[in-house]
Amino acid sequence: MSELSNYHTVYISPHLDDVAFSCAGSLLLEEQKPLSITIFSDAEPENKKQAFVKRQQEESVAAVRGNYDFLFAGFNDLRNTKNARYFGLIWGEMEPHLITSVYEYLQKIVEQTQAKKLIAPLGVGRHVDHRICYEAVCKLHSNYPELEIWFYEDRPYSFPVYSTEVRLVELGYSVDVDYGMYLESLSKVRYMSHRNNEKKLARCRQHVEEISALSNHKEVREVQYITNHNLPQIWNIVSAYASQVKFFIGNEQQFAAECQNVALRYNKEKYAERRWRLF
Ligand SMILES: [Zn+2]
Repeated sequence: MSELSNYHTVYISPHLDDVAFSCAGSLLLEEQKPLSITIFSDAEPENKKQAFVKRQQEESVAAVRGNYDFLFAGFNDLRNTKNARYFGLIWGEMEPHLITSVYEYLQKIVEQTQAKKLIAPLGVGRHVDHRICYEAVCKLHSNYPELEIWFYEDRPYSFPVYSTEVRLVELGYSVDVDYGMYLESLSKVRYMSHRNNEKKLARCRQHVEEISALSNHKEVREVQYITNHNLPQIWNIVSAYASQVKFFIGNEQQFAAECQNVALRYNKEKYAERRWRLF
């Protein structure tokens, strides 16, 4: 890693697209230029490398449009992890050595940038790489308790109603969930309509059975809503990821409709991002 300049705020993107998809509204409101780091920015199989070069170029376009600096950590996406299926909802097991490596990498970043605030993925949707980032950031908190850490809701995984709450329950937090509404909403979301829909839904039903039996007591420290009604500018960042947007998000109208649904759930208009301070 070459010398980095100072950044007050650092965003963490598990993949090439997550921060653009999930945080475009807040990026546009940053007063000082933030840094966004993509952790799994490379691919292991040789035949996939070219697609990742394209996605890295898309990140550079998104960064100009969103006025942020970017960095690629160079960890490999598309690994052959146990049970991992790299589409839609992912249920792979986290590799412990990767949590440690990502943690050590982030530690260097925090030291070099003198960051005060970290905006990290909550891991809604259970993608193994998102959960690895979440765990690495939690580890970071133990060594840097003064670091202000906020977790963003991973889009598009957080589009179905109660999907964020399901993740919070899984993490031991005491929040209300309507599991029936969650499963119904999940079955209709765009990324679930591709490949193995039934298999994925069955796995989600099983997951609900597992977590609905938990009796949690942990309380969330703080919730923040970031509203930004400049949808054309937000879409400009999201759509920089031309190779990903069609599959995961759809077109501008579909994106606006999903965002509107989410915002209404928060009692906001048009567009809002919700962030969680857990500790
Ligand atoms: Zn991702």
